[in-house]
Amino acid sequence: MIYHRVALIGLGLIASSMAHAMRRAGAAGEISGHARSAETRAVAREIGLCDRVCDSAAEAAEGADLVVLCTPVGVMGAVAAEIAPALKPGATLSDVGSVKRSVIRAVAPHVPPGVHFVPAHPLAGTEYSGPRAGFATLFDNRWCILVPEGADRAATDRLAAFWRALGANVDEMDADHHDRVLAVVSHTPHLIAYTMVGVAEHLEIVTESEVIKYSASGFRDFTRIAASDPVMWRDVFLSNRDATLDILGRFTEELFVLQRAIRMGDGALLHDYFTRTRAIRRGIIEAGQDTPVPDFGRSAVGQAGE
Ligand code: NAP
Repeated sequence: MIYHRVALIGLGLIASSMAHAMRRAGAAGEISGHARSAETRAVAREIGLCDRVCDSAAEAAEGADLVVLCTPVGVMGAVAAEIAPALKPGATLSDVGSVKRSVIRAVAPHVPPGVHFVPAHPLAGTEYSGPRAGFATLFDNRWCILVPEGADRAATDRLAAFWRALGANVDEMDADHHDRVLAVVSHTPHLIAYTMVGVAEHLEIVTESEVIKYSASGFRDFTRIAASDPVMWRDVFLSNRDATLDILGRFTEELFVLQRAIRMGDGALLHDYFTRTRAIRRGIIEAGQDTPVPDFGRSAVGQAGE
């Protein structure tokens, strides 16, 4: 056991996967949880997700050794303010938000003295959300990035041990670097997928039935990513604005290079370009970062999210 009591605030995909993974590993003595809506709390109780599902975030956090904010990033500051008086001295406060600098800016001012704030981000997800979406193997062989930024060393090491018990590999980074890396590997690709699906929707010459019928040609993978939770992704782009806009600018420049090569019939450029991108794909497979998520009869064939 790594923590006697763990509290999960927000009970969606990530929190429910953490609960299953904690049980698998025996990483927590007791798991308490809270979600905003009565419906989600009722589902969590029905499926026995936590040992205790509480009607308030403060009640769930009270007395916990580890409290993890698992809500969309846009509300983490408000949730931290709400639970701050209930946090016990010596406890660790963490989160799983996909953006780190804005979360630190919003949460840090509310952290009481004696509580260790160690932000984190598990790079694992699917396009599903809610308390029923979680599964114990979500974090297996994925990376969890800790962003301690001066936090207590022992508290950081303990949180790292916790994430390793949940199946993840652990790295540390500063928040700005994290946000830039994620803009490249996750945030901008999601924006491009949303855009491509939007393009198909607005294209009048391709009927809706044709889009669906021929989707295996590549479009299907975009739709899977573009099915990711709208609230979560709205918050991600608004919170990681600068890095995403920078990478999007670079993406647009590259797109113009390819557009020009197509117009000029420059096959050599296209061939060289696609040869380099294929090597990146092979590197991902060799690093074991392409294992599909389990299919719970939902026809998920890959891994969207992070
Ligand atoms: P999710 O499945 O949509 O669940 C979000 C949960 O937060 C729901 O239980 C929701 O409650 C609750 N919530 C929202 N506002 C709240 C509030 N003010 N107070 C208390 N609870 C509140 O989301 P998720 O995919 O697990 O994502 C959670 C966090 O993990 C996000 O910050 C996201 O950036 C990060 N993350 C996501 C992924 C991914 O691919 N999905 C990967 C890594 C990290 P209700 O159901 O009652 O509305």
